[in-house]
Amino acid sequence: MVIDTRQAEATAPPRIGVVKLASCDGCQLTLLDLEDELLAIGERFELVEFPEATSRRSEGPYDVLLVEGSVSTPEQAEQIVELRERARLLVTIGACATAGGIQAMRNWGDEPTWRAAVYPDPELIESLPWATPVADHVRVDAELRGCPIDPHQLLELLTALRLGRRPQLPDEAVCLACKRLGRVCVLVAGGDACLGPLTATGCGALCPGFARGCYACFGPREQANTASLSAWLGTERPAGEVDRLFAGFTGWSPPFRPRAGRAMEAFGTGSPRDPGHPGQDEESRT
Ligand code: SF4
Repeated sequence: MVIDTRQAEATAPPRIGVVKLASCDGCQLTLLDLEDELLAIGERFELVEFPEATSRRSEGPYDVLLVEGSVSTPEQAEQIVELRERARLLVTIGACATAGGIQAMRNWGDEPTWRAAVYPDPELIESLPWATPVADHVRVDAELRGCPIDPHQLLELLTALRLGRRPQLPDEAVCLACKRLGRVCVLVAGGDACLGPLTATGCGALCPGFARGCYACFGPREQANTASLSAWLGTERPAGEVDRLFAGFTGWSPPFRPRAGRAMEAFGTGSPRDPGHPGQDEESRT
């Protein structure tokens, strides 16, 4: 994450926009669900674009732009480049925007076949063969992970932006949150499949708190040792079952992609393809 905190030191309230690409709107709702803090946010930021919440519209420029959703249509591929040009800080929010989301499962298959299976009039739908994270297309200043994002991390990000400091967003495994909360380990003590050792915190170890394994909706933490945990899980499970653990909300993230691709291949969606989609080339980012 690269945040230029000097840009947030202006005395006037920063102009903030919230926009969506291909997504379910759940991450935007996290902002609206901050009921106790919403008025304070409204006083400290000028909310100039947020179609989910207000009819007030602005084409920018934005001091901060929160972007939800993956790039899934030709129109969105153009839109995100234009939005980047109008935003000083661009922050992606949620698994769709940061990892491609559940819709990235189509990246392993034949997109026209999937489209025909979902829509009664598929010829009316214009979509790309890929659903890709925003960072594959433009430079991103910060990411909030999760499906949906965590309200505390959102508040921390907004507070940091307003105060002109770097947000404190931990990159540690869900396991550490589990231990601090005194939870019994579902992996070691319960023998359940759990991706907590590989997954970034932020959820408060929600699933282990309900005695079920983490399914990595916050995506891989840095240096996630996917091979090691897969081998360990595979000692008592068929390989296909282990592969399926990775084929979820963040299956398209590079550390999880090979195992998720094998699961999708087993589902009969086609062969894992080389991710040669437009925009992923580092030099082509705006
Ligand atoms: Fe919805 Fe999850 Fe995507 Fe957020 S990350 S927009 S909650 S599907």
